[in-house]
Parts: sequence; C-alpha cells; structure tokens
Amino acid sequence: MSSSRIIPPGSTIGILGGGQLGRMTAQAAARLGYRSIVYAPDEPSIAAEVSAGFVRAGYDDEAALAAFARQVDVITYEFENVPEAAVLECQKLTPVRPGTLPIHLAQHRLREKDFLRQLGIGTADYLPIRSEADIAAAAAVPGALPGILKTCTEGYDGKGQARVADGAALAAAWADLGRRECVLEALVPFRCEVSAIVARGLDGETRCFPIGRNEHRDGILRTTVVPADLPPDVLATAERYGVLLAEGLDLVGLVALEMFVTADGRVLANEFAPRPHNSGHWSIDACATSQFEQLVRAVCGLPLGSVEALAPSRMENLIGDEALDWPRYLAEPAARLHLYGKGAPRPGRKMGHVTYVLRP
Ligand code: AMP
Repeated sequence: MSSSRIIPPGSTIGILGGGQLGRMTAQAAARLGYRSIVYAPDEPSIAAEVSAGFVRAGYDDEAALAAFARQVDVITYEFENVPEAAVLECQKLTPVRPGTLPIHLAQHRLREKDFLRQLGIGTADYLPIRSEADIAAAAAVPGALPGILKTCTEGYDGKGQARVADGAALAAAWADLGRRECVLEALVPFRCEVSAIVARGLDGETRCFPIGRNEHRDGILRTTVVPADLPPDVLATAERYGVLLAEGLDLVGLVALEMFVTADGRVLANEFAPRPHNSGHWSIDACATSQFEQLVRAVCGLPLGSVEALAPSRMENLIGDEALDWPRYLAEPAARLHLYGKGAPRPGRKMGHVTYVLRP
C-alpha cells in the first residue's frame, strides 16, 4: 500500500446521498476521527444531522458538486442511483470510491446481470423485454414463465416488478410498468436468500463478512441472521461470488451481492449494491468491524478490519409503525436499538433496526 494514497484520520469524507446508510457511515467515520460532509438534494437529511457539513443541492448542479468536492479528501456514495454524471463531475477534483462502473451497472438490471454472468457468477435465467415481439418470443421459451418482470431502472424494495404466470399476464404487466425496458427473470423456487458483503481496499485486498441469511416480505428485507446455517459449500460459493464481483468491478469500497439458494444447493445471484447494505447492519453490534467502518477504511486506504462475527445475531428492520415499539426494545437486554431519526413513520419506510446479539 503506498502511503501517499492514505487519507488519514482528521481528513474529511464526502458522502453523496443523505439517508440512513450515509448517517451510519458518518457515525463510523466520526468514531475513527474523520469529518463527513453530506451532499443531498433533500432537506432534512438524517445523514447531515450527524455530519460536520451539508451541501443541499441537486445532482445536476455542477458548481455545487465542484464546491463539495473541493471541501473533502475522498468521496463515497450511499446509494447506487446517484447519476453517473455527478460522480464524474466530482472525480475531476477528488477521488470517488467506488467509482462510476459499479453504479453504471447497478442502475440497470440487464447490464448488471450480463456483467455477473460474464464473471462466471450464476443467475436465474433472464430475457430482455423491450417490445411486444420480445413478449411473444419470451412466452415461447421453455422455462421463461412463470417469472418476475422487473423494470431495468428505478426499481427497489420490490417496486417496479410483477410476478407473471403466462404470456397474457406478461403482456399486461409490461403495459402496467409503462412499456419500459424490462427484464423477465425465471421465478426461482429458493430455499432461502443470502447476501455477501465484500470490502476491497486500495491495495486490492478483499474481505467478505460472514454470509447473512435474509428474509424479505413484500420485496423488503425484514431480517438477517448470522451465521446463515447453510452447508459449507453453499457459503463458500456465496463468498466466492462476492469476491469475484468486488474484483471484477475493480472496486475500492463495499459491495453487497444478494443471492438465492435453491433446495439443491445452487447459488444464484439476484442483484448487487456497491455500498453498505441493510443486510450488513448486524455488523455494527456483532462483528469486530462494522460494514460502515470497513467502508471508511477501504475508501481512505487504511488496512481493512477483521470480519470475525463476535456472536450470533439477528437483525430485524423496524418498518413504519414498528419503530413506535422502541420502549419494548430498550427493555430487552439482548436488543441493540438503532433509530434513524426520520420523523413520522410511513408504511413501508425503514425507520430503524434492532439487532439481537445472541449467546454463542
Ligand atoms: P429485487 O427487487 O430484485 O431485490 O427483488 C426483491 C425480492 O423479490 C427478492 O429479495 C426476492 O425475495 C424476490 N424475488 C426477486 N426476484 C426473484 C426471482 N427471480 N425468483 C424468486 N423471487 C424473486
């Protein structure tokens, strides 16, 4: 590792995006003696509230992006839908880690899946849907249906997608989704879902957090359990895929790869996010290094921290009104409560999480 590339404690980290992932990154950065400045279009920002500075401006505001980049020593992003052009603008002045390739891919499901396949990472079978002709062709492909139709862009937490049983349902769903470019994925009869969160440092070293076993409801993550309690070969494949991805992206930072595990032990990647991930929140309370500290270490060129789990844990998201139960969690000795300070709960909104640190 060349010491000239190290950004030491006392420096300032710029964070593009103002949500809870930025907030927890800023908290981890502060613990290591860094200052953070948040750049986000909306006010209030729950990340800015725990940071040294806040630039409130749009992602298309070149002057504001340049002024932000001049104030900080390194920049990272806390969500993958930051426009590539904004990252390029910042990069003229200050390193952005990870750079543009991970968001270029993660912003578009077809590009993302093609890239995973090129790296030798297994995925469910999929077909592009861009026209009525594609729908007719897909309906004739054996195994393509039943499937899930997903918009290529702007889908998250189960939004922008529909389950489709046959050709007629596919045509109707495509019309419902606005006849936009979509991908039709074969429905995976999975045994469970897992994620690999991999950090890669400036020197190319990778470290994968213990694989988390995830449960979703209505497309939103509800719980993550670590250890995942799966056969060693399944865990090894999940970890190998995560590391292949981090290396394939030439990443400096963090990437989370979400995967399905089938009853016969196959591992199929679903999607990735080049940032801290909800399924890694357990690491704040139950791992030697949290995913947020690991991101700070990676982007600042520091040595990566140990990813040893200190105890088994179960993370539960607090969605909407569930956060109003905070007195109950405070009363439970094994519960570590995290509230994001978002104000009034709204249905489907991630308001906080609680991690149960379990006895080994
Ligand atoms: P996504 O928006 O791709 O993250 O999907 C949200 C959730 O929908 C996943 O975590 C799965 O629970 C479910 N899902 C997505 N794609 C598939 C698939 N091809 N087969 C079965 N379930 C899926």
